[in-house]
Amino acid sequence: MNLIDVKNLLFKYKMYSGEKEEVIEHTAIDNISLSIKKGDFVGILGHNGSGKSTLAKQLAALLKPSSGVIYVGGMDTAKEEQILDIRKTAGLVFQNPDNQLIGNIVEEDVAFGPENMGIPAEEIEMRITKALASTGMTAYREASPGALSGGQKQRIAIARSLAMNPDVMLFDEPTSALDPEMVGEVLELMKELAKSGMTMVVVTHEMGFAREVATRVLFIDDGKIQEQNAPKEFFENPQNPRLKEFLSKVL
Ligand code: ADP
Ligand code: MG
Repeated sequence: MNLIDVKNLLFKYKMYSGEKEEVIEHTAIDNISLSIKKGDFVGILGHNGSGKSTLAKQLAALLKPSSGVIYVGGMDTAKEEQILDIRKTAGLVFQNPDNQLIGNIVEEDVAFGPENMGIPAEEIEMRITKALASTGMTAYREASPGALSGGQKQRIAIARSLAMNPDVMLFDEPTSALDPEMVGEVLELMKELAKSGMTMVVVTHEMGFAREVATRVLFIDDGKIQEQNAPKEFFENPQNPRLKEFLSKVL
């Protein structure tokens, strides 16, 4: 069974236009189909505004399809009664480390998800210890998130997601908002996660990283998957003209 199955996903943002005095629609995802298996590392590339974040939010069930269907761990993201179970299955780490941490101390942030799931205290304790150890943040358990560097905050955001024991982790440009010297530690941690067998879907502008770690790379443009391939093929022998142009700019 696939961990994630996306079939003919279409998504339109609806916005009220004061000028036109009507609701206008904007198609951000235009008929995407996609399957992700256990152990896959899918890198997602594309220009700004191409629909990458919208897709990540769809996979995390933060947005519902306008049409089409998404199964995460076999569960339909459009079904409200399964949202909690979907949250246990797929966790999303966002771009900005500052908007994700809300606790007074690190431990509270890492415990937040499991507590909401009603997990017993002893088990939560074990999960916090494990998540902090695997992100190299054990020493910061009692620290205030506000006192951490951007890279450390992002590692805690990852620990927070790990504490849910997810089957798949989703990342939306997890290093784009970091100072350059912090990027490496977060990418290194993500590599370790991938090596440990975690299934990962990563929207990124880090081409070297995508090429090295991904099992498959997708190029999204205009809300569509324009090309997908193994990294070597993807980077060395792109077919789609827009991908060629994109790569010529970023490489
Ligand atoms: P990316 O992450 O690739 O930069 P997004 O998924 O954020 O792209 O955006 C895809 C398209 O949807 C863009 O045209 C963007 O302007 C539009 N969009 C994104 N978020 C919203 C929103 N909340 N309301 C309306 N339009 C949006
Ligand atoms: Mg984005």
